[in-house]
Amino acid sequence: MKTRVVITGAAGFIGSHLAEALLDRDYAVVGVDNLLTGSTANIAHLVNRDFTFIKHDVTNYLFIEGPIDYVLHWASPASPIDYLELPIQTLKVGALGTHKALGLAKEKRATFVLASTSEVYGDPLEHPQKETYWGNVNPVGPRGVYDEAKRFAEAITVAYHRFHGLDTKIVRIFNTYGPRMRINDGRAVPAFISQALRNEDVTVFGDGTQTRSFTYITDLVDGIIKLMLSSVNDPVNIGNPRETTIEEIARTIIRMTGAKSRIVYKPLPTDDPKVRQPDITRARTLLKWEPKVSLEEGLVKTIEYFRTKLA
Ligand code: NAD
Ligand code: UDP
Repeated sequence: MKTRVVITGAAGFIGSHLAEALLDRDYAVVGVDNLLTGSTANIAHLVNRDFTFIKHDVTNYLFIEGPIDYVLHWASPASPIDYLELPIQTLKVGALGTHKALGLAKEKRATFVLASTSEVYGDPLEHPQKETYWGNVNPVGPRGVYDEAKRFAEAITVAYHRFHGLDTKIVRIFNTYGPRMRINDGRAVPAFISQALRNEDVTVFGDGTQTRSFTYITDLVDGIIKLMLSSVNDPVNIGNPRETTIEEIARTIIRMTGAKSRIVYKPLPTDDPKVRQPDITRARTLLKWEPKVSLEEGLVKTIEYFRTKLA
């Protein structure tokens, strides 16, 4: 019997890459998604493999026939534009959806893995961010719907671990980019690439001095699988520590696409974190993981993907 994995949010950007990587390693995969921000186009190429798709909203009762070894809970709007437009769905999938996915894992005695986020650190007062940092989050600001949903999701995951003895893992994902991001999902990398490829103005929010640390999708997936197979239950940051300002990434993308675009400055969204960089000592020591793909290499592949989409 193959190891069987359920992935919620499998039709999304990260979920679809994760499904593909697990199929490549000879796992059987069941993908669950309500297509809120995802698309069947992301998983269409998996139909002839050991992949089953169930269209379902995971905030509702979730039952799947047969044995399950892992439940990977990836469902949630993830781009700031998406979760600002979908505040209730974001809170519901982080809270009710995580509860249902944990319930499924408990029923099947499966290992549970939560897609958490660097957003649990909010606008961080510690830099770089270690997993021991508790964060600086505004619960009633516009980003609170996402940040607090993920903080609740972490809390209920740990409660299932402590109270029910469930084997649980929490991956704190830092800004990840790559093929299959939606052109108009509003996140910096797809926004800048699509603007540059159309020779439109590139919209930098604020003065562009805020920083992020961008991780290429294959590095992230590698880290998630290492954590899933490990005995680690504490949260683990998975992200590339190479920190860049948003202005620097905008300029890099304009240069790499050969665009004639200018940078225009727009107002900084409320509570936009000023800095973000993972401390990956835990991932390095416990998982023997570190990123391999440089920003330039990752951007070459991502630009190539967006070129075909915009052609
Ligand atoms: P995405 O929007 O591409 O994927 C999310 C998927 O979840 C979509 O396919 C969507 O349809 C599905 N979904 C949403 N609500 C659902 C529900 N109620 N029931 C079933 N399916 C539902 O986003 P992504 O970038 O692939 O992010 C995936 C996960 O990773 C999210 O949990 C996100 O919080 C986390 N994450 C992503 C990043 C990043 O940089 N991409 C960073 C930190 C955390
Ligand atoms: N950003 C920007 N222009 C855009 C989209 C985003 O300057 O068109 C900025 C945003 O304000 C933030 C950074 O880029 O400072 C990363 O934004 P993203 O939405 O990718 O992810 P976040 O880290 O904010 O969740």
